[in-house]
Amino acid sequence: MNDQEFKHTVLDRLSASFCAAKWYNATIWLGSGQTTSCHHPPAHRVDPDRVTTNPGLLHNTDQKKQDRRKMIAGERPSGCEYCWKIEDMGKDAVSDRVYKSKIYPIEALDEAFVTAPDADVNLRTLEIAFDRTCQFACSYCNPAFSTTWVNDIRHNGPYQNLVSDGRNHFTHTHDSAQLFKVTESNPYVDAFFAWWETDLHRTLTELRITGGEPLMSQHTWRLIDWFKEHTGKSTTRLAINSNLGTDVDIDRLLQSTQGMQIDLYTSNEAVGLQAEYIRDGLVWDDWVRNVERLLRSRQFRGIHVMATINALCLGTLDQLLECIMNWKLRYGKDAISFTLNILRFPSFQSPLILPDAQRTVYRQRLETWLAHWVDSEFVHEHEINHTQRLIDYLDVVKTPHSEAFDRPKLLNDFKQFYSQYDQRRSKDFGTAFPELKTWYNGLDNVD
Ligand code: SF4
Repeated sequence: MNDQEFKHTVLDRLSASFCAAKWYNATIWLGSGQTTSCHHPPAHRVDPDRVTTNPGLLHNTDQKKQDRRKMIAGERPSGCEYCWKIEDMGKDAVSDRVYKSKIYPIEALDEAFVTAPDADVNLRTLEIAFDRTCQFACSYCNPAFSTTWVNDIRHNGPYQNLVSDGRNHFTHTHDSAQLFKVTESNPYVDAFFAWWETDLHRTLTELRITGGEPLMSQHTWRLIDWFKEHTGKSTTRLAINSNLGTDVDIDRLLQSTQGMQIDLYTSNEAVGLQAEYIRDGLVWDDWVRNVERLLRSRQFRGIHVMATINALCLGTLDQLLECIMNWKLRYGKDAISFTLNILRFPSFQSPLILPDAQRTVYRQRLETWLAHWVDSEFVHEHEINHTQRLIDYLDVVKTPHSEAFDRPKLLNDFKQFYSQYDQRRSKDFGTAFPELKTWYNGLDNVD
């Protein structure tokens, strides 16, 4: 069934706003005690006292129950605006409501629809972050997700003179993202493990651990150990995000996960010095070595490279894709894959900030890469689609600079941010990105 048929015959049959993610999916940040259904609606805080006696409240909050009631009535919860905007473009427009519902059996959707909206529902797919401990401080990340970013702001103060919508990312330490020290007892983490023991290990089809850097959290290892000690007790598919940086204990990872089938997600979008500039903390050679060790072990279900497409990665993105293709040729089509996720926020780091001529150069490089690989049996359909989508995005005709795209402010912030980033992180923009150097130096005069 294609996506439009699914929308009309499965979802709309239940109601015009039904989305199974509200019942069966959650992202939960245990460091801050916040939860949301998919990543679009704003996160909201869970009561730390109530969660002690009912760990399922990490997901079944009053807010989500209200939203479920609305969806059953065919009304639109305001937090899901992302989907409503897309659907208002036309009756055949397909929003994430379709993709986030389609992953569950149709009977599960019917069951959710007839369940009392006040009832607690067991999750089927979950993404959790235990804390924000991370040894990297990537340029597009912020202190809410990285303790190294916190240290930057704590020692050097807020980034100055940023004026666009992304400024608050870089002006404070986001302490509300980590309410408890990692050495302290955290009622949300305790509730998660209690819920895991009673229900989640039976009901979850997929559990993905994110961070911070999850492999720096003792709780991730505790969970991996649980799987080892309870072989066969849970069929939950475990997935782990890791930056696979120098300090990640690959020996321990390989040893602890022997006999398990784990998906490993790692981030990168450029090669060499450019990758190291964008993802501060990364040592390119170590990342390559770590990926190769995992591939050679053949004990992972798949390694998935997530590229966050920002203004600075496009000079060497094609080289990274080439590197991934070479790994595929050696280890198999499914051993490693990639997704290209276009960064939209902070918008001053978006590829749309680049001059048109430079975007065209980058678009043509990707076109050349795609023409070479498009018929290869080693490329997944989604990889071709993501590459084509990025090529279209870089097309200055298809995606022009719009009025809403507040260009002078964004250019100001681009220059302000990276000149301070250079000082704080002992980097040099011009050395890392020689083909952007002249343009970058000229940004002093954007006003
Ligand atoms: S309707 Fe859209 S925004 Fe809301 S939970 Fe579903 S996928 Fe997410």
